[in-house]
Amino acid sequence: MSPIVELKDVRKSFGDLEVLKGVTFDVNRGEVAAIIGQSGSGKSTALRCMDRLETIQGGSMLICGHELHDDDVDLKSLRRDVGIVFQSYNLFPHLTVAQNIMLAPRMVKGMKQRQAREIADTVIAKVGLREKMDCYPEQLSGGQQQRVAIARSLAMEPKLMLFDEVTSALDPQLTGEVLRVMEQLAADGMTMILVTHEMAFARKVADRVIYMRDGKVHEMGSSDILRTPATPELAAFVSESA
Ligand code: ADP
Ligand code: MG
Repeated sequence: MSPIVELKDVRKSFGDLEVLKGVTFDVNRGEVAAIIGQSGSGKSTALRCMDRLETIQGGSMLICGHELHDDDVDLKSLRRDVGIVFQSYNLFPHLTVAQNIMLAPRMVKGMKQRQAREIADTVIAKVGLREKMDCYPEQLSGGQQQRVAIARSLAMEPKLMLFDEVTSALDPQLTGEVLRVMEQLAADGMTMILVTHEMAFARKVADRVIYMRDGKVHEMGSSDILRTPATPELAAFVSESA
């Protein structure tokens, strides 16, 4: 198996505050990795570095063949390969679902209207919202808006999907519908890295669990580490999160 994500001793500071203190892990093609850990442990920063929304200051980071520690990394090409979805959906309110999804394929990839529409039809079906294509975001529930945000990312046909606590703003029922979409994506073979508080979901779907603590990977392994943690810190975190 070939890693499509390789972090080696990655370091990142904001001013005097060192947030990533030498983070090392790999993710192979087709794997699902769940990053868990206390608030402030550096999970979002690590994810944002993977899409070069933040630059790293030490170590190396290879994402879908792009060397992110290089100053001359091709950002446009990186952003085609990597999709990122956040807790807030950030859909354009004045555009319909179809227009939201077609925007990047049209603008970034220069796709013709018809081809972009075909892709939009495919990805909206994946998130189960075909009947909402002509709705505006405000006409959708939070869970539906988040599924549209996922579809919008998929429309760029990424090789890697990053999810940062995408269900944190949703109530349990809406959380379930978003998690089901992510589970289906995983089953379809998408490589995914997700920061999540959903322990049951991580246990079920993740091939690899990465427990971050104070800017470092404190414990990492298969999802079995959630059942039988090796460190007292992960054991405490798991029991707090249950
Ligand atoms: P997590 O996602 O695990 O909660 P974050 O990666 O968001 O953690 O944050 C890790 C630390 O970095 C926190 O102390 C946070 O306040 C700090 N931090 C994150 N982003 C910035 C920023 N842009 N500027 C300054 N400090 C930041
Ligand atoms: Mg975070």
